[in-house]
Amino acid sequence: MLSTPIAASARQARRDRAVHAAAHGLLDRLDPPLAAFVDLAGIAESVHGLRSAWPSGLDVLHAFAAKANPLVPVLAQLREHGMGCEVSSPGELAQARAAGFAPGALVLDSPVKTLGELADALASGIAVNIDNFEELERVDRLITPDLPEPRVGVRLNPQVGLGAIEAMSTAGRTTKFGIALDDPGNRERLLDAYRARPWLRWVHVHVGSQGVPLELNAAGVAAAVGFAQEVNRQRPGQIVGIDVGGGLPVDFTSDTDSPTFADHVVALRRAAPALLDGTFRVVTEYGRAVMARNGFVASRVEYTKTSGGRRIALTHAGAQLVTRTAFAPDLWPLRVLAYDRDGLPSRTEPEVQDIGGPCCFAGDLLARERLLPRLSAGDLVVVPDTGAYSFSSPFHYNSLTPPPVYGFDVDGDGEVRFTVLRAAETVDDVVARSGGIPAGRD
Ligand SMILES: *Cc1c(COP(=O)(O)O)cnc(C)c1O
Repeated sequence: MLSTPIAASARQARRDRAVHAAAHGLLDRLDPPLAAFVDLAGIAESVHGLRSAWPSGLDVLHAFAAKANPLVPVLAQLREHGMGCEVSSPGELAQARAAGFAPGALVLDSPVKTLGELADALASGIAVNIDNFEELERVDRLITPDLPEPRVGVRLNPQVGLGAIEAMSTAGRTTKFGIALDDPGNRERLLDAYRARPWLRWVHVHVGSQGVPLELNAAGVAAAVGFAQEVNRQRPGQIVGIDVGGGLPVDFTSDTDSPTFADHVVALRRAAPALLDGTFRVVTEYGRAVMARNGFVASRVEYTKTSGGRRIALTHAGAQLVTRTAFAPDLWPLRVLAYDRDGLPSRTEPEVQDIGGPCCFAGDLLARERLLPRLSAGDLVVVPDTGAYSFSSPFHYNSLTPPPVYGFDVDGDGEVRFTVLRAAETVDDVVARSGGIPAGRD
């Protein structure tokens, strides 16, 4: 598709503008000189790309998976662009409520819901997906005539197999999520469960995240659609909607989106045509593919040195922000971009370097043996594609303070305007969240 490279280069151009602007003031007012950035125009573009990829006549709610980026102002932007929100804990539900989502735009998928969590969601009119038969029995006691019309589904595990990253794959034979559709007796037990509960009118499936090929994802969705059709053959119209989960992967090695939302819809149409024929309402729960591209982290290089012949640049960005990459670099590659001290793409001679972070373990590296323009103290390193599952969910190791997150817009003249989306944590905040009393407070 022609539109994809154009969008990618526009995104790169906005990122370059923002890095350049941040290098003149903003970063150096911070101690340490480290910040995360969210491309607000990029969010609009991503949501537009998602919404236009799905057939326009279909009744579809695109519920952003909050865990991918639970910053309240980000969720509020997604809401303004017409998205709903999928939440999987009381904290995420509170974040989504703070971002202004109406109950009808919310879906609760917590893997281990308490009675209180279920009661709150049902009383509020939030859609709920049930994980197991015991949870379903608990819901029986909560469904009362005075409730808003319940939107309740059962999460099926279609057991279609694992993707490239086992920890991200949710449709293995023994995966912990949902009800295993192909286990002996389960299909009959599920059909009985739907027969006994006329209010049970949705089916949910989420085949996994990064590393799950589109065809595997679509095969899992097709199994859920097939099950819904089976229920409806017995009692026409009982299943009104299918929640297909998320899982569109992101190519972290380039700026170009592949696969795209449209590619996913093509795969779904091939594997499960009935999903798109208007019989069912649809909910999607994309997270990573909506936000990963729309965030980056920038840090000044504090020092450089050479150890055992290896050139090393030490920065303030590391495992506290890109935790998965630090612990499993082969599964979670990220690019690192070198900029000079003025925030312009670096033009120094490329050299093999390690880029180290601020945490006290040797694996805290943004990049190992990476060929990059030779970095010097004061230069900038930028980690793109960190808008999902990275700086938005910091790791508290070493009591490093999560950096501020700035949203940015670039106007027609190339002027960049920053707004604070999340203030930096202070060391007083760290003391307070560690059971202590910050100095100067009593
Ligand atoms: C994590 C998750 C998602 C989002 O997955 P992405 O790979 O970010 O699109 C959607 N639904 C459920 C139930 C999830 O656990």
